[in-house]
Amino acid sequence: MSFWDQVKQKLAVFFSKAGSAMQRFMYGRHGADQLSLHLLVLGIALYLMAMLTGFFPLALISVGLYIYSAFRMLSKNHLKRTNENTKYLSAYYKTKQKGQQSVMRFKNRKEYKYFRCPECHAILRMKRGSGMMHVTCGKCKHQFDKKA
Ligand SMILES: [Zn+2]
Repeated sequence: MSFWDQVKQKLAVFFSKAGSAMQRFMYGRHGADQLSLHLLVLGIALYLMAMLTGFFPLALISVGLYIYSAFRMLSKNHLKRTNENTKYLSAYYKTKQKGQQSVMRFKNRKEYKYFRCPECHAILRMKRGSGMMHVTCGKCKHQFDKKA
């Protein structure tokens, strides 16, 4: 066997050992989930901002985020971490949806007038320039007059 073949073989053995050691280490641990990954991404973003602005506390927060993210991945309390991730995801998608809705409202602002139902505060819209209208809220069925 040539020298390089021996090196290759040794490396292969090393990585397969390291891989199974890693697998043993991670066994029963929570591992990566969306919350941990998003915390890492946020940590990197804050770190870059700290570098750009020279505002040191941001770097500290980013290190805190890495540590918390690592703690979550290595945690053996799978149930608790899963619940945290589920809660986080539902808040994340709600916020994302709200953001997309505000973008839509902003895009359509010339065509539609947006306002809140005086009863349930749901956001309603009507075409601009349609004058005084009798509005029925789609959510609570409250009726009122509104000028567009
Ligand atoms: Zn309503």
